[in-house]
Amino acid sequence: TIPLIKEEIEMCVYDFNILQSDEKKRLLERPIMKTEEVFGKVKPILDDVKKNGDKSLLAFTEKFDQVKLDSPVVLPPFNVPQLKPNVKKAIDVAFSNILKFHSSQLDMSAVLKVETMPGIVCSRFVRPIESVGLYVPGGSAVLPSTALMLGIPAMVAGCKNIVIATPPRKDGTLCPEVVYVAEKVGASVILVAGGAQAIGAMAYGTETVPKVDKICGPGNQFVTAAKMIVQNDTSAMVSIDMPAGPSELLVIADDNCNPAYVVSDLLSQAEHGPDSQVILLGVNLSKSRLAAIQKELDKQAKALERCEIIRKSIAHSHIILFNSKKMAMDFSNTYAPEHLILHVDDAESWVKDVFNAGSVFVGKWAPESCGDYASGTNHTLPTYGYAKIYSGVNTNTFVKHITSQTLTKEGLSNIADTVMDLAEIEGLGAHRNAVAVRVKDLR
Ligand code: NAD
Repeated sequence: TIPLIKEEIEMCVYDFNILQSDEKKRLLERPIMKTEEVFGKVKPILDDVKKNGDKSLLAFTEKFDQVKLDSPVVLPPFNVPQLKPNVKKAIDVAFSNILKFHSSQLDMSAVLKVETMPGIVCSRFVRPIESVGLYVPGGSAVLPSTALMLGIPAMVAGCKNIVIATPPRKDGTLCPEVVYVAEKVGASVILVAGGAQAIGAMAYGTETVPKVDKICGPGNQFVTAAKMIVQNDTSAMVSIDMPAGPSELLVIADDNCNPAYVVSDLLSQAEHGPDSQVILLGVNLSKSRLAAIQKELDKQAKALERCEIIRKSIAHSHIILFNSKKMAMDFSNTYAPEHLILHVDDAESWVKDVFNAGSVFVGKWAPESCGDYASGTNHTLPTYGYAKIYSGVNTNTFVKHITSQTLTKEGLSNIADTVMDLAEIEGLGAHRNAVAVRVKDLR
């Protein structure tokens, strides 16, 4: 038999103009998630952590991470291990850019004030969510970048208690880079646990883990299912950022694209996991350019360490050919990718037509990796088409907007009849009365 590595790595190519409508629909679909099975596994873990607290947390860490810990938490001051100077510098540069971008998203002192009628002033002001739990994945790879992407906006928003949860490494220690970031963002606790048990501990609280008000961050299927379950449990009173699925990327490229760049971007997402999906939309792509892309894909993929993962994700990824910019953009907006790269001439002018996407990378000099790590934008983004309705994590993820109103005598007098009439239509006499008793003294 021929060894697997010899097989060509290629993406399937479809011509959008000759596709039947059911085929077009199929190309918009994501690989199916088997949610019910996962929910069944996760619910008992959550129930156990809710009931037995730390004891349960430590037992699940031993079972799933093969690590026996004495305590599930590490408290400040954190013992930050010595980092290599280049690693420390890279984290510091990323920190500074992400801080700059996320600080500008919020002005805590800005109060929105509008006089809607003479004597009626409506306002809106901002307050941080007090306690937040940030999940930093750590199963197959350590992700200090996710600690930055969650910790910085929480810090900027002014959250009082920041709990960072991350699974222990095989020797029971924490990823040093995550500890460094935890210190930089002023975390109040590091929860040394992963998976559903970490989500349960933050949602319900344990003897050592403070209960949080909101849980944010990506993770595997167990983490995602656990977030969705606790969000619907009224006894937890906790919200989440968004449901997250496997990473995805859509690139739109024209015939002037650089095949090596296009392929390097596609592979940077395809390497995430076998479930990841990458899509290339070619606009007026010539046959020779398409062939160059396929050739480059095979060459670059085979040189990568995670080639076998890529082989699986490329199997459900595809290239779709379009002969108009508008049709390609329509497809992209309907698919609503987590990441969208515009690798086309005059890419900036395409941005106005983007309606659904998690984050957009404009032009051939903007690889997605820059946004993943250090340019300033957030990498915790909606997947699975949720970009149609959710924003990625940002500073506003960690705040609430509170409204207020002030009415003068004149204001109440101006609006009294409107409110009393509407209350009467709804048959709510007490509502009507709250205005009527005052109006009696005014008129
Ligand atoms: P993880 O931290 O999400 O999960 C590891 C934990 O899963 C372990 O600690 C363990 O407790 C639990 N677990 C493992 N096997 C289990 C089982 N059989 N039953 C119950 N629990 C079990 O790390 P991961 O697994 O490497 O996944 C990270 C995910 O996060 C990837 O899918 C990656 O693509 C995603 N990610 C997404 C983004 C984004 O912004 N969308 C960013 C970074 C990472």
